[in-house]
Formats: sequence, C-alpha cells, structure tokens
Amino acid sequence: APKRERRSIAALPDQLVSQIAAGEVVERPASVVKELLENALDAGATTVRITLDEGGVKRISIADDGYGMPAGELPLALLRHATSKIRTLAELEAVTTLGFRGEALASIASVSQLSITSRTADAAHAARIDAEHGEIAPAAGGVGTTIEIRELYFNTPARRKFLKTDQTELGHCLEMVRRAALARPDVSFSVMHNGRALEHWNAGTPAQRVAKVLGEGFSLAHLPLDERAGPVAVYGFAGLPTASRGRADQQYFFVNGRFVRDKLLTHAVRSAYEDVLHGDRYPSYVLFLEVPPESVDVNVHPSKIEVRFRESRSVHQFVFHAVQRALARHAGASPDTTSL
Ligand code: ADP
Ligand code: MG
Repeated sequence: APKRERRSIAALPDQLVSQIAAGEVVERPASVVKELLENALDAGATTVRITLDEGGVKRISIADDGYGMPAGELPLALLRHATSKIRTLAELEAVTTLGFRGEALASIASVSQLSITSRTADAAHAARIDAEHGEIAPAAGGVGTTIEIRELYFNTPARRKFLKTDQTELGHCLEMVRRAALARPDVSFSVMHNGRALEHWNAGTPAQRVAKVLGEGFSLAHLPLDERAGPVAVYGFAGLPTASRGRADQQYFFVNGRFVRDKLLTHAVRSAYEDVLHGDRYPSYVLFLEVPPESVDVNVHPSKIEVRFRESRSVHQFVFHAVQRALARHAGASPDTTSL
C-alpha cells in the first residue's frame, strides 16, 4: 500500500458539506419531491401543484399557497441548519412539523439549480432568490411559495449516472405524492409531467382520497377502523384479503402524519392478517397512528422514514389488536366467513 502523507486538518467548505449531506438525503428526484412537499404542508398549504420534466431530473417545481416567506429570510431558507420550525431541544422532542433539520434546501441547492419565489400575506409583491448568486429580486406571484429545481446533479455527474430512466424516476416521484396525498386528504394536489396533467386530487374526505389514490380495487374492499386509548389512536383502512397483492406496494403507515416504513408496525399489521392471508400475499392498508409526539423519536435518520417508539411493545400490541379486531368483526358479520 502507498505510504500516506499526513495533511493538516481543515474545515470543509460549506458547499462541500452540503454536497456530502445531499448524498444522504437527496438520493433521486423523488427525494427532492418529498422534501418540498413536506415544506409546503408545514407552511399550511391547501393546494399544492407539482410540475415535473423528464422524471424530475430536468425540472421539479412545487407551488403552494402556504404562508410564504418574507424576502429578507430567503437567504436563510438556503442556509444549512437554519429553520423556522424548532428553536430548542425541548421543541425538537415535541416536534409536530414534518421538517425540522433545516438542511433540505441547502443540500438540494448544492447539487442543482434552485430558486425560490415566495410571498407572505402582508407583502406587496413576491420576491425571488436564485441559490447560485443569492440575489433577491421582486417577482410576480400570489401568497405562497414556489420552489424550482433544475438539472439535478448537474455538478455531480457521478451521481447523475445512478439515475434510472425518466419513467422510473417519475414513478418514484409519484409515490411521494401519493404518500403526501393520503396523509392530507384536506389538501388538493395536482401533478404535471412534460406538460401533461397526470393527477388532480381535490380536497375531500379520507375515504374519497383513498379511493382516488389507490383505486377501486382497494376502496371497494376495505374495512374502516378507528380505535382510541387515551392519547393513542389508530385509524384508517385495512384492505380485505380480496384486496391483497403479490407485492407489498399498497402499505401506507403514517405516524403523527408522517409516512414511515417501520419493522415493528409492519410486523404488527402482518401478524393481524396471519390467519386470513396466505404467506405469499401482502395486505393493503392505509393506517394512521397518533401518539404523543414526545413518545416517538423521528430524529433517527435524515430522511425521517424510520421512527423509534419509547414503548414499542405496547404500540405493537395496540396496532395488532386494532387490525385483528377489524378483521374479526368483518368475519363475524359476513355470511360467508370462509372468504376471510
Ligand atoms: P426544514 O424544513 O427542516 O426547516 P428546509 O431546508 O426544508 O428545512 O427549509 C428551511 C426553511 O425554509 C423552513 O424552516 C421554512 O421556514 C422555509 N421554507 C421552506 N419551504 C417553504 C415553503 N414552501 N413555504 C414557506 N416556508 C418555507
Ligand atoms: Mg424541510
């Protein structure tokens, strides 16, 4: 092995720090879509418009009608570890917003061409900042925020090579929109791709949203469930065995409004279906768990898709029994109990 010469220790430049962080959070266009959707929802948006070109690689634009940002704060939105969402450790431990790390926009800006156009309710007009130069200029636009990302990974060609076809990247982006749309049926979402309208989901009830997003196969064959025990609740829709699938591609679990992929929860639901599903079939479900924010740690992974429960055994039991009871109620009520 070659002998290594010692080099002196030096702090990395900010841009490189952000690019390293981007490696963790910004895996593909869908990761950008996820972060921008979270920001739009955190800002209280009721309408979110997503515009993609070439699977999001060429362009991702997300426009919301949330509370916007004042022109003077636009540079801060792009600064690493700058956030409006928490101020203290106590606030982190009780966080109710989807974001809180203050890293996403800085990371995304370090590997793309990013601009923000935003306007608050009391501003006379919108303002726009271009991350590259940091210049702020007056702009046209209503109250809310539009964030546009062009040419993802243009300056990191090694990463750009890892992207799949536009169609595959689009599929991942749409999955992020489905998750957000299921979590927030009270918000309207629309998606355009290469100038074509792909989806338009108006605000409605949870059942209407589930029907739109997952289609008839699920909406005609599910059991509603809703169980509460003090501050803990699990509710949503558990698919009947007839809505089960050959792949685990319709399993949506949300903890305090955040989509998660959690071994403990997946196992709890899977176990509840054990008696009614063959081993090679996967249940479909859209379930929401509400727990006190301080009883769950969402700060486990930068993408926040993993969570850790303080009392994981009781959470497992609670979810397991709720789903099992819903399935049993159905079996008891059905004249043809063998179908379950
Ligand atoms: P975080 O969401 O973790 O705070 P981000 O880098 O995603 O970090 O965003 C930085 C800050 O920019 C946010 O805390 C918020 O104040 C502001 N911001 C980002 N997107 C929006 C938006 N769509 N509407 C209003 N404010 C936004
Ligand atoms: Mg964010």
